[in-house]
Amino acid sequence: MSAFNRVLVTGLPAVPKPIVGRVASRYVAGETLDDAVRVVRSLNGQGAMATVDLLGEEVHERDKATAAVEEYRHVFDAIAREGLDSNVSIKLTLLGLKIDEGFCRDNVARIAETAKGYGNFIRIDMEDSTCTDATLRIYHELQGRYGNLGVVLQAYMRRTLADIDGLPAEGGNVRLCKGIYVEPRRIAWKGYETVRANFVAALEKLILRGVYVGVATHDEYLACQATALVDKHGLQPHQYEFQMLLGVDEELRRILIAAGHRLRVYVPYGRDWYPYSIRRLRENPEVARHVLKALLKGK
Ligand SMILES: Cc1cc2nc3c(=O)[nH]c(=O)nc-3n(C[C@H](O)[C@H](O)[C@H](O)COP(=O)(O)OP(=O)(O)OC[C@H]3O[C@@H](n4cnc5c(N)ncnc54)[C@H](O)[C@@H]3O)c2cc1C
Repeated sequence: MSAFNRVLVTGLPAVPKPIVGRVASRYVAGETLDDAVRVVRSLNGQGAMATVDLLGEEVHERDKATAAVEEYRHVFDAIAREGLDSNVSIKLTLLGLKIDEGFCRDNVARIAETAKGYGNFIRIDMEDSTCTDATLRIYHELQGRYGNLGVVLQAYMRRTLADIDGLPAEGGNVRLCKGIYVEPRRIAWKGYETVRANFVAALEKLILRGVYVGVATHDEYLACQATALVDKHGLQPHQYEFQMLLGVDEELRRILIAAGHRLRVYVPYGRDWYPYSIRRLRENPEVARHVLKALLKGK
């Protein structure tokens, strides 16, 4: 990223919210469940699966977490009613992790039970390192009880290779991504190539353990390494999938689907789009150009 882009990205919080909204709208389906349904239907028509995420994080009131559980029930209803090829992704801090771990676990259990009633699946997103232990605890406990959950491991975390050893050998389901939060060097690898190397090492270790992996990346180098590992270990298309974010590198998405790989797109929706959008914009080296264009159009 150029120094100019870096300055603009650092200054993003100072950019007026409507402008961030305009630039970020490609990363978010919209504010309502109907918006998410429309986007998932279109993705399914393009040969992609989806995972629907209700936007929002870190609630401090129990009724907000309970409302999110209720909203997820509507998401599963809609997926079934519309015959969509989609599962659901959840964030534990939206479900009360920072209020009380037991309360959060019970909320996730209710969502897992709803999902099970529909023969569906939930993926627990991984948030910052203050959540890692609790997230893995909740995943292990509820996966043992319901069998329809998956979790996320982040290649930038130094602990990730060790965490793979703790996964259930049978029926494990992991999304592997680089990791998006800013973590101290003490616990996270920092070099771009270092994180890539740990991603490849973690991916091969997961495959060797028989875990179903969602390879979540837009990094062409990693997509290439993943297809090589799939070939090396003789995996069939139903034994892994690629995952990408809505609005990012649709060309790579089409290339992977055309090559016969299963691919799932992460479809976030909801009124709490701002923090998610800021994170996405920070990742995009082209952000300066987009923000400037929107600022100029806004005048
Ligand atoms: C399906 C999915 C789920 C995820 N879930 C989690 C999670 O639970 N926890 C977590 O910490 N992280 C999560 N992430 C984010 C992930 O950790 C990375 O931060 C993000 O995917 C960028 O890493 P990359 O592998 O794409 O490589 P990068 O090197 O960051 O990007 C590779 C290429 O893609 C382009 N690109 C990347 N992001 C964008 C963007 N926003 N807009 C435009 N271009 C972009 C870059 O320009 C670059 O050319 C998820 C990512 C995906 C795809």
